[in-house]
Amino acid sequence: MKRPNVFWQDKGRVSSNKYVCGYCGNFVASENGYFAEVYPHAIDPTTDKREYILICHYCSRPTYFDIDGNQIPGPIYGNSVFDVPEKVETLYNEARNCISCNAYTASVLCSRKLLMNIAVSKGAEEGIRFIDYVSFLSDKNYIPPDGKDWVDHIRKKGNEATHEISIMKKEDAEELIIFIEMLLKFIYQFPASIKRKTNVSTPEQHP
Ligand SMILES: [Zn+2]
Repeated sequence: MKRPNVFWQDKGRVSSNKYVCGYCGNFVASENGYFAEVYPHAIDPTTDKREYILICHYCSRPTYFDIDGNQIPGPIYGNSVFDVPEKVETLYNEARNCISCNAYTASVLCSRKLLMNIAVSKGAEEGIRFIDYVSFLSDKNYIPPDGKDWVDHIRKKGNEATHEISIMKKEDAEELIIFIEMLLKFIYQFPASIKRKTNVSTPEQHP
């Protein structure tokens, strides 16, 4: 979400650095921020090294790069989606942020809750099982034909850990994010974008 009224004081221009912002998920090339000269470098004392704090020009939040180029916070997994209800977007970003800090089980739990919320917003009953919500979305054609293998895969994963605490792996969390990103684009982003185009073109068609 854009934060237009944030003014970092005394920031300067630094050499351009490309990175995926860990807060908003946008790919940015920032020249705005701060740097520190660090010497002697632990590995090569003859080399000048710098650390950076770069300001994202999209969300205005700072990211720290240490002397070895490690990024904190790390890049957020998955892509930003637009025209999505605020609560859905918040939960989606929470699931993505969990991956940045290796909290894969927490990410999967967020993603499952999100799938339930999306299904309920499209008419599914409340209080049914996670895998039934996935089936609901599939049966109502919210998932394209070539996405059926995804549905089977996610159903199978969901069956593995319905009633017990099961520790999830990185790939489990990432798979769900990819799946949800696709759903959010189909259900919210694409319809909103075509609606905008139609609304803009209507006066031209009927002057
Ligand atoms: Zn950002």
